[in-house]
Amino acid sequence: MRAFWLFLVAFGLGAKRHWHILFAIILGVIAGIAFPIHGADGTNNYTLVHNILDSFGQVFIRLITMIVIPLVMSSLVVGISSLGDSKQLGRMGLKVLTYFLIFMGISALLGGGLAYVLEPGHYLQDSIQNQAELVSQYHQNSAQEQIQQLKAETPELKTLFFNMIPENPFEALANADLIPVIVFTIIFGIAIASIGEAGRPIVGFFEALFTATMRLTDWLMVLAVPGVFSLAFITVANTGIEVFGLLYTYIAALLLGLLAQVALVFPLFLRTIAKVNVMNLYRAVSEATMVAFGTASSSATLPITIACCERRAGISNRIASFVLPTGATINKTGTTLFEVVAVLFLCQAYGIQLEVYHWVVIMIFSIVASIGAAGIPSTGLITMAIVFKSLGSQFDLKTFSAGIAMLWSIDRVLDMCRTVVNVLSSCTVATLVAASEGELNRDILNNQDKWSDVVS
Ligand code: ASP
Repeated sequence: MRAFWLFLVAFGLGAKRHWHILFAIILGVIAGIAFPIHGADGTNNYTLVHNILDSFGQVFIRLITMIVIPLVMSSLVVGISSLGDSKQLGRMGLKVLTYFLIFMGISALLGGGLAYVLEPGHYLQDSIQNQAELVSQYHQNSAQEQIQQLKAETPELKTLFFNMIPENPFEALANADLIPVIVFTIIFGIAIASIGEAGRPIVGFFEALFTATMRLTDWLMVLAVPGVFSLAFITVANTGIEVFGLLYTYIAALLLGLLAQVALVFPLFLRTIAKVNVMNLYRAVSEATMVAFGTASSSATLPITIACCERRAGISNRIASFVLPTGATINKTGTTLFEVVAVLFLCQAYGIQLEVYHWVVIMIFSIVASIGAAGIPSTGLITMAIVFKSLGSQFDLKTFSAGIAMLWSIDRVLDMCRTVVNVLSSCTVATLVAASEGELNRDILNNQDKWSDVVS
């Protein structure tokens, strides 16, 4: 065993620097399995090491999240003002939004198809209550708390829509509400672009702010390896592996869908439309995907996503600074798939017969729910309530509480996987848009020697 650890560490240290994050994730997962917090006999094994690593992981997430708001504002203003007239912005905005909807639409269909064929909830039909009790042995408190939270935080659709328009942009900034911040910044950016030379000082200010926040990102990336290790470790140690066995069909359907997007859907678009070597793009944004996996937050990953796309994927600053912040907020392809599979899983597990109409509503509202989910951990599970609400009163959340508690208990690990797909999906859209606008530097993308380091 000791030799195995030494081998992994030595192999990791010898590899290229950006692979260190991957090794950190693998080590974190293995260590998490080896030192679980919840013993099979119900004991709590939370040690000082768990405490230290948990705290370190939180510090890392807080530090990178700290950059997001100034980064989103500055990158959008810089991006929009460089787009020139509002006609050009409108054309590009429409293109970006269309791609987002196409990818989320495909994802919803994929989720529906997988749930139809694999019937992940079917085998639990007679035993969901018993199974949920089994799970609650390990996660009793957290599951109950999470259900309460789910009920309390379910937003009304109308509220969700109104909240997109900030009454006070500074309040939205202070609360880190990304959608209203983006709405305000886009309108503000158009206004700056329309006043021409007079707007130059403001643009100059935001250009400097953008450069400084990217520098901060570089500094914080020094912590990426231990940060991601801590997060992976504590998540796996906290989740335990027992519950995974109980929900294997649900997990399989979900992972299969996510994999299909990464291995088939994105490459199909990238190859046919942008004529891009998919592996080069995936390699270019590998740090972003690994940090997405570690943090389960596409917002926190945004600084690294921007750095990877600009410095390695050859996507121009103009495109990256517009597409990636909006993508991190709106384009949650992985979350859409999760919403569809999770809702259908629960319906099947509770033996609820669904009409074609229900399937359509679930797919459409899963897209709405994933757009409504913030780019932070587990929000997809919270906004799932929107899908149930849209199905009508007979789909009361209370009916499903035991099942939802089960999903909560393993959600963090699955959230890590869907966040990777969310981030990759936005990188894909940015590449497609950059290629169509003639702003993809293929020389950089295809030439690893020209890549600069994202992780120090
Ligand atoms: N964690 C996801 C993200 O940050 C959102 C979710 O599905 O919960 O993109």
